[in-house]
Amino acid sequence: MSYVSFSLKYRPRSFDDVIGQQHVAQTLKNALANDRVTHAYLLTGPRGTGKTTTARILAAALNCEHGPTPNPCGECDMCKAIVAGNAMDVIEMDAASNRGIDDIRELREKVKFAPAVGRYKVYILDEAHMLTTDANNALLKTLEEPPGHVVFILLTTELNKIIPTVLSRCQHFQLRSIALRDIIGGLRSLADKEEIEVDDGALAAIADAADGAMRDAQSIFDQVVAYADGGISLEVVNEVLGVTDRELLSRIADQIVAADVAGCFGCVDTAIAEGKDLVRLVEDLTVYMRDLLRLQICGEAVEGLRTSTEATEEMRSQCEALGEERLLDAVGSLAELQSQLKRSSQHGLLVEVGLAQLCRPAAAAAPAAQRPPAQQEGPGQAAQPAQQARPAASARPAAGPVVSPDEPLTLKLIAANWNQISGEFNRMGNPSLNAMMQDQDMSPMALEGNALTIGFANEFRFSSVESRHKETIAEAASRLFGRPLQIACRLLGSAEELAQAAEASKQGLVEPAPESEAEGQIEEPVEQAAEETAEAEEAVSASGSETQAPAEQDAAADVAEAPPTADEAVAQTLSLFPGSAELTGDEEEPSGEGEN
Ligand SMILES: [Zn+2]
Repeated sequence: MSYVSFSLKYRPRSFDDVIGQQHVAQTLKNALANDRVTHAYLLTGPRGTGKTTTARILAAALNCEHGPTPNPCGECDMCKAIVAGNAMDVIEMDAASNRGIDDIRELREKVKFAPAVGRYKVYILDEAHMLTTDANNALLKTLEEPPGHVVFILLTTELNKIIPTVLSRCQHFQLRSIALRDIIGGLRSLADKEEIEVDDGALAAIADAADGAMRDAQSIFDQVVAYADGGISLEVVNEVLGVTDRELLSRIADQIVAADVAGCFGCVDTAIAEGKDLVRLVEDLTVYMRDLLRLQICGEAVEGLRTSTEATEEMRSQCEALGEERLLDAVGSLAELQSQLKRSSQHGLLVEVGLAQLCRPAAAAAPAAQRPPAQQEGPGQAAQPAQQARPAASARPAAGPVVSPDEPLTLKLIAANWNQISGEFNRMGNPSLNAMMQDQDMSPMALEGNALTIGFANEFRFSSVESRHKETIAEAASRLFGRPLQIACRLLGSAEELAQAAEASKQGLVEPAPESEAEGQIEEPVEQAAEETAEAEEAVSASGSETQAPAEQDAAADVAEAPPTADEAVAQTLSLFPGSAELTGDEEEPSGEGEN
């Protein structure tokens, strides 16, 4: 049992050893040099940033046999005992377990006695925000006028929970999250001292996983060194951290490029068979896509890639093939998928559906751009479930307006022909927008004069269209419907809400009164229609409100039910894919046959 972990072995012994907190270290050194040490300090900052370490160094600086000094020697008995946390005169208390008034009363009694061997009695009170109100009040008196031989150092991760009266009696130092390059530097010097061979990429991955905490970085490094056989590479670190190996991520990206849904399913099977966590897989794939996006935008000057030390040839060709638009979309969809995974137990299904959706834009947009416009209503689009429900009116030739300029334009007409807007994007030389427009995530939901409101359920898509694509969509819609239209975007609370709004548009429920006559068929009374619209907006919270008009009940029943649970949402999403029943079968026994 002679092994000592890195974080213990290389625990800083002087202010100069503390990584990433120079602003605190320098101020304390100055105070010590000028004999201006006060009797109460408060050190705040995230976990693992060096609060306890700094407090102990301050205690050592005050009590060092060669002190008080800004540079404690680290060699004398006093220094050694303090750094190891077992000096008699340095009392470390955990306020989480000693938080009551009795504990503080006892402390107040003990404070009176002179230090046993050192010059100062130093009380280090960790988790100081946990003290009860009574304990805080009791502490206040002591903080205000402690005996001259006492120094209090309060530590906390939660500054906002420290009561103002305590705060005002302490000198406050805010320790920062340690910068990535500082952690990498610290690990590098540790590796040099230990004569460990390690790649820069491996250190960067460790530092990244440590999330600003040096202590975490050291303990991950400990683990990696124990695991590794010889030199340490990024792959070794990824194995220890459980990161999905880059090869699998790259293969999935290739399959998204090739729109190979079956191939994606195969990758998911492989991951399950290898015992990988699918949540982690999606997180890592998100980071991989983010790396591709960075590479796409920054080109050769790219920095800060996280799945690879430098851009590889395959990454370059993947980002080339996907393009900025689809990569942005992919990162957004994957982030959305991550939050869905937290709410569902059906991880395998959700991931498969999510990957299939990432494959789809290529299936819909790219071949359509090459085909003549007349074929655009072909099988590629027939696979879109929403369009199956759309009236046959949409099967007219794609070029030119679908509604004659003399014909009054209604929301119902727009909804019925909305899927044809992708043809306009292609003709306008903007096929990448199809990735967004083909999705179930947006739908026309209101028409007032020439202002068309489009609803979105996905915040990412909403802001992407709102900030960049509104003009293009307005132009495409104007061409498609043969008159100038303006576009307004609206973010709805959920996919269910959007589905209801879409259904209402298709049914003509949100038409202004005069338009329904022009259609030649009387729909609902106007008051009824207005009521329906209002309900569609509230239906998600008002669970299962069944006040639909009889005529619409069948059509709306699917969406007007109580808000679905996450698992029901999976089933709903799955029903959008042909052959989803097989998927459900697979999920029952995740042995991963890999035949998909
Ligand atoms: Zn010393």
